[in-house]
Amino acid sequence: MRSFSSFSRFLLTVMLPLVLNAIAEEQAAIELPVQSGPAALPVPNPTKSLWVDTPGANPLGKEGSTGALTHDADICIIGSGITGVSAAYHISRLLLEEGVDGKDLKITILEARDFCSGATGRNGGHLTPAFFQGVVGYSALYGTEEAVRAIALEQHTSSSIVRLIKKTGAEAAVDLVEGGHTTLLFTKPEVVVAKADYAAAKAAGINVDSVKFLSEDEVKETYGAEYPAIHAPGHNLWPLKLVTHLYNLTKDTLGSKLTLHTNTPVTAIAPIIATSDTSSRRWNLTTPRGPVACSYVLHATNAYASHLLPHMHGPSGIIPTRGQIIALRAAASLDNITKSSWDGNDGFEYWFPRPLAGDETEPLVILGGGRESTKPKFELYTVDDASVNPVVGDTLRRFLPAAFPGKYEAGREPEMEWTGIMAYTKTHDPFVGPVIDPAQPDAHKGQYIAAGYTGHGMPRAYGCAEAVAGIIVADIAGKEYTVPDWLPRHYLTQNRLHE
Ligand SMILES: Cc1cc2nc3c(=O)[nH]c(=O)nc-3n(C[C@H](O)[C@H](O)[C@H](O)COP(=O)(O)OP(=O)(O)OC[C@H]3O[C@@H](n4cnc5c(N)ncnc54)[C@H](O)[C@@H]3O)c2cc1C
Repeated sequence: MRSFSSFSRFLLTVMLPLVLNAIAEEQAAIELPVQSGPAALPVPNPTKSLWVDTPGANPLGKEGSTGALTHDADICIIGSGITGVSAAYHISRLLLEEGVDGKDLKITILEARDFCSGATGRNGGHLTPAFFQGVVGYSALYGTEEAVRAIALEQHTSSSIVRLIKKTGAEAAVDLVEGGHTTLLFTKPEVVVAKADYAAAKAAGINVDSVKFLSEDEVKETYGAEYPAIHAPGHNLWPLKLVTHLYNLTKDTLGSKLTLHTNTPVTAIAPIIATSDTSSRRWNLTTPRGPVACSYVLHATNAYASHLLPHMHGPSGIIPTRGQIIALRAAASLDNITKSSWDGNDGFEYWFPRPLAGDETEPLVILGGGRESTKPKFELYTVDDASVNPVVGDTLRRFLPAAFPGKYEAGREPEMEWTGIMAYTKTHDPFVGPVIDPAQPDAHKGQYIAAGYTGHGMPRAYGCAEAVAGIIVADIAGKEYTVPDWLPRHYLTQNRLHE
């Protein structure tokens, strides 16, 4: 016989406006044969996001979009999201560590739209590293050592970001909130998977001491939702402001050797045929504002990677996938909502309350998700972040009032709504390292990539950028790159050729 609490949970589950347990169906959709050609360039006039479009939030927005273009650089970084800017930051530091005179090395960042207006400027704002999640699957696919590394990469990335923010006194500048992270487990399969991953992580020697499983009653008492949950450390922040901070730190080191050109899409890359009287650069980048010659190219273009690297389109590469966010005012105080960030429904939904601003009494909650309502398409193969999907929007509007009775007002309209484009891969892991086209393995010498975070980039991109920066700097210094312990070997492009 059902207990009362599981009966009431059953009723609530029925009331949730979500498609539950859709993860396997989404994976099947990702693995379907290719659905379209290479990605288009980022579309103009994207929907307005809180992070980008709050007045004053994006001081670098139009940087370098007019005036003279940098026509020659040692390293061209395409994309000014967290990957591209973190890579510039890491390169500037690694060059000094390697004893290469970084002051003479020119880096230019080319961005198709405004500064950081891709996924990083349009995301959910969570910096939530995995502690044990996915260990069973990773172990089965790649072995336990790789499963341990997948967790280590996220822990390394998140703690490095938080350490840097604190070391440079930027907590307030980037709105860093150490509120912890809670995962609501709506269904039995989610509980079973979480417990198995937790046990496997523990058995593999991963430290899970800070992870707590909470009963329905504990969740109800503390948070007001009637589901079991998992609580672990986690942060949220203003992603664009973090990237701006990283850019400014890099600029302090490199000065005029670092240039940024926003609203300058790269439309083609072609090899430079060396002759004795021309430059020794390897690649010529075409932009509407003129060419840029460089020796190294880093594709930090995430969802759009296949535009310049057509061999990376489809399920063996990177699938652009649209995510949608609403900013919804809660109907309860921040104390009542708590500062925790959240996810649920296998990660399809994710939300957190913003710190209170001015005379606000009820927090603005940033909620993303709802793609599962569009199954079987899941918004895969969509680069249009200039529009929203009303079906997704309807799911998002109804979710929080249903999950947290009394804390959100049913029918209240969001204050903002936007979309952004994520970069899905079949294994959910990014590609990191030299660009390799299996059909012509030597055709991209000097080109590198870090992209494909599958909607989970904040605790991975800065670390992957550190790795790809290390690979580039080792090449410049004529040394062999030593792969750090924390980097999963299955992220490396040379180990992804079978996909
Ligand atoms: C709606 C949404 C919610 C998300 N929520 C979270 C979250 O809460 N936590 C989390 O960890 N992750 C989240 N993610 C994922 C995370 O935002 C990304 O993984 C991360 O921001 C990727 O950073 P990036 O720098 O690689 O890519 P981007 O930030 O997308 O940067 C790539 C840049 O390249 C530019 N570009 C592309 N092609 C060209 C070209 N040819 N020439 C010049 N420029 C070009 C683009 O304009 C873009 O600015 C979310 C993503 C979305 C879209």
